[in-house]
Amino acid sequence: MSYLRNTTNQPSQLDSPQHTIEVEQLHKRFGKINAVDGISFKVEKGQIVGFLGPNGAGKSTTMRILTGYNRASSGIAKICGIPVAADPHFIKRRIGYMPENNPLPLELRVREYLKWRAKVKEIPFSQRRRAIETALESCDLLRAQDRIIGKLSKGFRQRVGIADAILANPDVIIMDEPTIGLDPHQVILIRDLIASLRGRMTVIISSHILPEIEMTCDQIIIINHGKIVGQGSPAELRDTFIDHTTYEVEIHGSIEKLKTALSSIAPELQIEKTSERCPQGFATVEIQIKGKRDYGERLFQTLANCPDLRPRSLRSKMAPLEDVFLAATRRSWEEVDQELVANGEEQAVN
Ligand code: ATP
Repeated sequence: MSYLRNTTNQPSQLDSPQHTIEVEQLHKRFGKINAVDGISFKVEKGQIVGFLGPNGAGKSTTMRILTGYNRASSGIAKICGIPVAADPHFIKRRIGYMPENNPLPLELRVREYLKWRAKVKEIPFSQRRRAIETALESCDLLRAQDRIIGKLSKGFRQRVGIADAILANPDVIIMDEPTIGLDPHQVILIRDLIASLRGRMTVIISSHILPEIEMTCDQIIIINHGKIVGQGSPAELRDTFIDHTTYEVEIHGSIEKLKTALSSIAPELQIEKTSERCPQGFATVEIQIKGKRDYGERLFQTLANCPDLRPRSLRSKMAPLEDVFLAATRRSWEEVDQELVANGEEQAVN
């Protein structure tokens, strides 16, 4: 159900295209700063997308352009097929936006605030009560609806921000660091809440908490210096940026013997990390090799047949998203250096 009236002859939610968000060659300059430097991407309906990048990469600026709060210097951003710049007011009503450090009126009660927001969002009067109940229920705020916002914990306030964002049942939700400063319990609650929107709304979240992004998002876009440096599912990004395979083995026996066994398989199999031994004498050892060739089976057979070693478990270990992020953003620094050299600017930098 959409509360939005189609007052123009622009497409409605029913005939909106497959991609709810389309960005093409978007640029935003602040004086000499290229905050957003020619980014293009598309997001399919109902997907949850993580927007990652170091501080100052251009995430908030991109989000603000998508919401119609900032104007792009050039390029196009479309929501449900409609260019944002063509009708920012209309777009604002199709988007739920939760900015970074979401400012809330601290003196209002939760329900009172949502009532006011429902009016601002032009939800028809007859549907407001229902919309508020749904938002309160989805964000587990029914118990807190009569409490003063200023007296709520940070986690509850973030939930009020999300309730506001979903209130008008928008096509797109944009959240700038929704879990910043929350304790791990609250992070899990907000993560589950965001995951529950999958399929119903298209969601873009920016965050520096990478495991959270990995758990919640279908697609990830990594930006740095205003440019996209990586894009895809977590598995696709690993495939692009991680150039080694890691195995974790729990083993009893001397590490020297393990090294000898490894070199009989491939001299490049290296021990990366060794934990302390547990009381039973087992240690967890991380073994790494460059490239994507799978050594799992040979490793298992060799260790199981080695009389001096007793393996207890073996598994291949996925690289954390943090490694992908670091590799993607490091790569772009190198590209920037190359650009400077190409432009003959390296002397100015040094
Ligand atoms: P963070 O993770 O720290 O929130 P971000 O990726 O969201 O960073 P942006 O806030 O989009 O980055 O900023 C991108 C660049 O644009 C930065 O260099 C920032 O200083 C600059 N910038 C952003 N807004 C303005 C503004 N209103 N005026 C001038 N420069 C700005």
